[in-house]
Amino acid sequence: MSGSMMGLDGKTALIFGVASEESIAYAICKKLSEAGCNLVLGFQPRFRSRIQQLLPTLPDDTKIYPIDVDKEGSISQFFDSWQKESPNSKANVLVHAIGFAPREAFDRNLLFVDPDAIETALRISSHSLQSIVRKALPHLAQNSSTITLTYAASTRYVPSYGLMSIAKAALETWMREIAARLGPEGHRVNAISAGPIKTLAASGIPGFEGILSHVERNSPLRRNVDQTDVAGTATWLASPLSSGVTAQVIHVDAGFSSTMVPEDVNG
Ligand code: NAD
Repeated sequence: MSGSMMGLDGKTALIFGVASEESIAYAICKKLSEAGCNLVLGFQPRFRSRIQQLLPTLPDDTKIYPIDVDKEGSISQFFDSWQKESPNSKANVLVHAIGFAPREAFDRNLLFVDPDAIETALRISSHSLQSIVRKALPHLAQNSSTITLTYAASTRYVPSYGLMSIAKAALETWMREIAARLGPEGHRVNAISAGPIKTLAASGIPGFEGILSHVERNSPLRRNVDQTDVAGTATWLASPLSSGVTAQVIHVDAGFSSTMVPEDVNG
């Protein structure tokens, strides 16, 4: 579909969470720019050189600024830097594709994970949605659309996802709360619940390959999703084509979340 048909021509998208070519947020950047959006990326400083390598693959006018949601003042600095370079710019689209939990959260029985690790995972993976939207408020264009990325372990047990399950449940709750608060002004907030995809973040999850093959065998589409599948739905959510959709968790998972008993139950 052409950019003008999507209604995204000349719109501005702030995108948080590009770390590599495999990042879901990178595929979202590609699709949003094809639809006519101007891109403003917030990158974690430790990925600076990777981002600089990716920059030539994005439109020339793409802007990048550092952001570390775990560092006091960093979110404000991101918005200050953007506004300094592009005074009075407004954001039509926000993409929050940030997730992190300390290694011990995956290696240890969840019952014995330390409070510090729990706080870090929730601060970065869940509460950062609130922190970013809060700082973005003065810069939101009319009828803006915010999109975050979640995983179905928020509502059902997945071995080895541990602390991130709790973080995603909190993230989805933030999403609904913020949608309810901003809805009266016309702003929309939704989450995409993506099926498993091999990315940097996913490489930290024990047994990930096993999850991928289970989904491939048992999802209605008999395949896994990839970054492009997620980016398509993100672009629809960003666009006025989804104007009546807010406060939702939309599953982009080849239908896997609709199943309960695996196909091979009879051997
Ligand atoms: P990724 O590693 O490419 O992206 C994670 C991003 O989080 C990185 O860009 C990283 O820089 C950013 N980040 C982490 N800590 C940060 C901090 N303190 N400040 C700023 N940014 C920080 O992996 P991805 O799979 O593309 O993950 C994007 C989102 O999608 C995450 O929320 C993840 O949980 C979610 N998700 C991923 C999958 C999957 O299977 N890959 C499935 C469902 C949901």
